[in-house]
Amino acid sequence: MTTATDPMDSLASADPEIARLIGLEEGRQRDSLEMIPSENYASSAVMAAVGSVLTNKYAEGYPGARYYHGNEFVDIVESLAIDRATALFGMDHANVQPHSGAQANLAVYLGVIKPGDTVLGMKLDAGGHLTHGHSVNASGKLYSFVSYGVERETEVIDYDEMLAVAKEHRPKLIVVGATAYPRLIDFERAREIADEVDTVLMADMAHIAGLVAGGAHPTPAGNAQLITTSTHKTLRGPRGGMVLCDSKFRRRVDRGVFPGHQGGPMMHVIAGKAVMLKEAATSEFRAYAGQTVENARAVAETLAEAGIRPISGGTDTHLILLDVTTIGLDGQRAADSLERAGIVVNKNAIPFDELPPMTGGGIRFGTPAITSRGFGTAEAHRTGELIAEVLAAPDDEAVAERVKAEVKDLCDAFPAPGIPSA
Ligand SMILES: *Cc1c(COP(=O)(O)O)cnc(C)c1O
Repeated sequence: MTTATDPMDSLASADPEIARLIGLEEGRQRDSLEMIPSENYASSAVMAAVGSVLTNKYAEGYPGARYYHGNEFVDIVESLAIDRATALFGMDHANVQPHSGAQANLAVYLGVIKPGDTVLGMKLDAGGHLTHGHSVNASGKLYSFVSYGVERETEVIDYDEMLAVAKEHRPKLIVVGATAYPRLIDFERAREIADEVDTVLMADMAHIAGLVAGGAHPTPAGNAQLITTSTHKTLRGPRGGMVLCDSKFRRRVDRGVFPGHQGGPMMHVIAGKAVMLKEAATSEFRAYAGQTVENARAVAETLAEAGIRPISGGTDTHLILLDVTTIGLDGQRAADSLERAGIVVNKNAIPFDELPPMTGGGIRFGTPAITSRGFGTAEAHRTGELIAEVLAAPDDEAVAERVKAEVKDLCDAFPAPGIPSA
């Protein structure tokens, strides 16, 4: 007879090296302010599903139509995930199998357009994503991408440019959605533009999906016929992706995922997505999404008051892009100095950046993870002050030490969900 043991105990005896590293990473996540805007703390419930025996199951195909046997239970798991996703986002169909946001995007491209077709997406240096046509990515290699950006003056999406480029190039698909853009996206306007050139609108809501679910950002549903997302960013689920679409695109999207470019689905992760989708439909999550935006506003305002310029002047979302060139820094130096003080952000290009991508003129950060800890507006404001202190003295060890100690106190007072205390 076997007895149940703590999975971490069995890992520690089977592979002490990996167990020790996981322990160290747990400590890092517990004791620092995780402000990379695409990161979050998945709940213990989500992690339990991901760590389950569902990892053992092969289930190529879709519920009720599999290539393997023994799918009676995983079929129900996947159907639950699909039903919860369509209900939460108000779309006809969901494919919950994409291994990540990048795979969700590739699935739409493979299923809906043909190699060589023209696609209109957002410029990378304006906040667009690699999978929106970068030359090193499959999207840029297989399709002919043209792009729109932001207005130089306001740093807000230039919808007139979107329309003009759409009229000139007649794309088969228009992609909206960004990875480093702090303002609301006007899906209604994007749909008008798509209709005007008789094309289809895809919204990549990877960053903002949790805000959409919680009513803190307008939904692309009703305007975009195709919606892609990651599941681990503001949605706070397991690492993965998802496509939502109108019934008209159901078959094409499903075929774009499998057999288009994926093999067997990760049923353990799909179970985690189902748990996340249940959590994201609660009133607690609604409050979380709203507070995440409030907190980002408080951080952005505090930094603006300290004389460091947020791109576009502020934020409507969970995300802040900060121009650090005006205080004599580059993104690399700014992010390094903050990391020494226990605040984790990433360097990022800013619109019309004059610095190379390896340094970048800005840093990108946000409030999804600190809000999951329970930070309110007061703590967010204080976090903004701490960031400003570090950036004002990026090489000062004493400042870094002092801020790091206060970060530790904040982390102790607001424990990270899903992480055992030290
Ligand atoms: C993060 C992101 C992706 C890719 O998601 P992964 O899960 O990292 O593959 C795609 N599009 C946008 C806009 C993103 O922000």
